[in-house]
Amino acid sequence: VDEETFEQAFTENTCAVFYLPSSEGGWVAPGALDLKTTIQVSKKHHVPVIVDAAAQLPPKSNLWHFTKELGADAVVFSGGKYLKGPQSTGVILGKKDLLDWVSRHNFPNYDIGRMHKISREELVGIYNAVKEYVLSDEEEEGNQATWIVNDLIQEFDKSNCFTFESSYPNEAGQPMPRAKMIIQSSKINVELVRDYLLSKENPIYTKIDNGYIYINPMMLSLEEYKIVKASLLELQEELK
Ligand SMILES: *Cc1c(COP(=O)(O)O)cnc(C)c1O
Repeated sequence: VDEETFEQAFTENTCAVFYLPSSEGGWVAPGALDLKTTIQVSKKHHVPVIVDAAAQLPPKSNLWHFTKELGADAVVFSGGKYLKGPQSTGVILGKKDLLDWVSRHNFPNYDIGRMHKISREELVGIYNAVKEYVLSDEEEEGNQATWIVNDLIQEFDKSNCFTFESSYPNEAGQPMPRAKMIIQSSKINVELVRDYLLSKENPIYTKIDNGYIYINPMMLSLEEYKIVKASLLELQEELK
């Protein structure tokens, strides 16, 4: 939409604008207005802008970029993605009055179904996940993703089974590479690779995306990566 169409969409019943941002090269809703203009227009109508940045970490600076720098009223991040916290958790940051409204849905005010309830263990989990992330060395983590992708590329460089190439940025537009598997043997296809990895003692779930399997290092520890690599080497061995 253009600015004018967006502006005309406001009515007296508009309570908030929900915006899905992307980083350079990531997926953007077709025809989406840029966030800066969205915020400017919304402010004119005194309507808060809430940014859905569930998958927009890294970079760490996004924790304050959308709110402090661009002026959005609140931003939400998934606890179970890059933060590596419990899957059921998330983080909302922003203006206090808005967050107070969110808090009012909490204990002891909730009613039917106790929605938004997460356990004490999960609260501790997300607290620690945020703490670890904020204190982590961003550069090192970025390098680890690149290291994993390069390691796969090198390891299978001369394989007549499958090879890898670097694909950047990842599907959510996060600034780190994924390893894209290129099948080299007519004896296998992506479905076979997927089923093989799934059948191992440590099952590895991969999704076929547009006909390709990608190994995304975003959530992988080096220990976990070793398991992935070992399974791929085994598959290569079996096909010899
Ligand atoms: C993953 C994602 C969500 C959902 O987050 P969960 O923490 O998995 O509930 C919402 N919005 C966007 C843009 C996402 O990428």
